[in-house]
Amino acid sequence: MNAQNMENALTPRRQGLAVIAALEAKGDQAGLARAAAEALDKGLTISEAKEALSQLYAYTGFPRSLNALGTLQRVLAARQAAGIHDTPGKDADPLPEDYDALKQGTAVQTRLSGQPFDYTFVPATDYYLKAHLFGDIFARNNLSFADREIVTVSAISALPGCGPQLIAHVSGARNMGVTDAELRALPALLEEKVGLAEAERLRGALKDVLGDDHTSVQTVDFAVWPKGEPNTSYAQYFTGNSYLAPMGGGVANVTFEPGCRNNWHIHHKQVQVLICVAGRGWYQEWGKPAVPLTPGTIIEIPEGVKHWHGAAADSWMQHLTFHKDIQPGSTNEWLEPVTDGQYNNVGFTL
Ligand code: MN
Repeated sequence: MNAQNMENALTPRRQGLAVIAALEAKGDQAGLARAAAEALDKGLTISEAKEALSQLYAYTGFPRSLNALGTLQRVLAARQAAGIHDTPGKDADPLPEDYDALKQGTAVQTRLSGQPFDYTFVPATDYYLKAHLFGDIFARNNLSFADREIVTVSAISALPGCGPQLIAHVSGARNMGVTDAELRALPALLEEKVGLAEAERLRGALKDVLGDDHTSVQTVDFAVWPKGEPNTSYAQYFTGNSYLAPMGGGVANVTFEPGCRNNWHIHHKQVQVLICVAGRGWYQEWGKPAVPLTPGTIIEIPEGVKHWHGAAADSWMQHLTFHKDIQPGSTNEWLEPVTDGQYNNVGFTL
C-alpha cells in the first residue's frame, strides 16, 4: 500500500486528533493553529479538541497542554469572528453516584497493558496512573479509549527519548481497539503535518510491535532548512529522491533522502560551493577518497573536476549550494550514476 492509501485508514476526525496531539507535544503553536483549524473543518468538535489537548497534560506536562489549549482558544475566537460556526460537540456525561476512580482506572489500565500493572516502586505514582489518568481522565466519555490512545501515541512520537513508552502505547492502542492499519497510517500523516523525526520515531515503534520492516535513519528538521519541492528537473541525474528549495541570493538548499546521491558530474567554467547544513553525507572526487559531509562542512569544487555528492545510506542530508567564478559558456556535464559498489565503498580510494 502506498502512503495515501494507508492514511485513509484513519477517519479525517482521527487524523485531526493525531496531528493536534503531536503538535501539542512538539510545542509548535503555529503548526497547531493551522492543524486545529483543519481538524475543525474536517468535523472534529470543540469538545473533542479540548479533551485531547487536556488529556495530554498527563503525558506532555501542563506547560505544553496549557499552551496548546491557549492556541485552540485563539483559533476558535478567530474563526467565530470570521463567521465560522464550529460544532460544540457533546460534553462528557456526569459520572455515576457510585463511581470509584481507582477501581475503574485499574480495570482500564489492565486492559490497556494487557495485564495487571502495579508500580510498587512508587505507590503514589501507581495511584496517580490508576485513579487519575486511567480513572478520572479516561472516564470522560467525549473521547473513546481508542481515540485517546491515538492521541497518546501521536504525542509520544513527538517526545524525544521516550521510546519504551511509545512502544508500550502502540501496544496499548491495539488493546483499546485501534487497528493495525490505523497505526500504520500514522507515520505518513505525522511526516506530512508534524515532522520527519516524529514519523521516524513511530516507524521504529511499529517495527518493534508489529514487526514491520524499517531501518532507522537520522532525520533532519525541515522547520530549520526547508525541504522544498521534489527535484524533478534533475531527477534523471540522481539515484533516489532529492528535493530543492530556492533560498534567494543564488543559493539553493538541496535535501537528499538516505542513500540518495547525484551522478558523477562536472561543473565546467564555474566553481560550485557546498555547505552542509543538516544530516550526514558524502562528497567524492574521481580517484580520491570520499569526504564526509556534516553540518558546517564547506566544499569548494573546482571547475572541471568529476565528482558526486549525496546522503549517507542511513541519514538524510541537506546542503546549500551556489556557483561562483561563473565564466561565459558555463555548463554542468552529467555523467554515469554512482554505482552501488562505488557508493557502498565510500571512504575507500576507487
Ligand atoms: Mn556538483
